[in-house]
Amino acid sequence: MSALPVLESEVAGCTRCRLSQGRTQVVFGSGSPDAQLMFVGEAPGFHEDQQGVPFVGQAGKLLERLLAGIGLSREQVYIANVIKCRPPGNRDPQPDEIEACESHLFRQIELIEPRVVATLGNFATKLLSGRPQGITRVHGQEQEAVLGGRRVTLYPLYHPAAALYTPAMLKVLEADFARIPELLGVEDGPKPLLTLAPPPEPTVQLGLF
Ligand code: URA
Repeated sequence: MSALPVLESEVAGCTRCRLSQGRTQVVFGSGSPDAQLMFVGEAPGFHEDQQGVPFVGQAGKLLERLLAGIGLSREQVYIANVIKCRPPGNRDPQPDEIEACESHLFRQIELIEPRVVATLGNFATKLLSGRPQGITRVHGQEQEAVLGGRRVTLYPLYHPAAALYTPAMLKVLEADFARIPELLGVEDGPKPLLTLAPPPEPTVQLGLF
């Protein structure tokens, strides 16, 4: 088995913090193990806890729409959270829970080796930047960071759950999202797989016969 599924099966039995007692299952992460782009959210909610997959509720639908807007699907990226178990009543993760869980996330980043890590909301942004500045101040501003022993571009974004109910925030999130292809080094967005237009006719006929 490759290293990521091995880590996933280890984390499935994690009892490092109190959240293990109330969870249905650990929500490890999902997507491509070779993704260039990784998203890090906050914590599983009700639906994620039930299904074992991150971002499957309303916020997840919005994330999928935003991804589609830059020509990507959730299968092409990797999605994880700061903490892997649902907090009761969807309360904020507590500092000791984040501390207990963070090495799982750092190991995931080390194994996936993404080029860009987009943090969704305050918890992921503060943890991965190591700085106290909140998302309102730093969203849309890429930073160089060393994560999992490698240099990555850290890109803070508003959390889709916050943008769901605040149209002005959604506009900002869309605008910030639109810069992801550039950060990935894909200047004009993903290239189409097929060129549908026929090749141009040569303007000068070569008299070979
Ligand atoms: N919000 C998160 O931060 N993570 C999820 O998986 C779902 C909602």
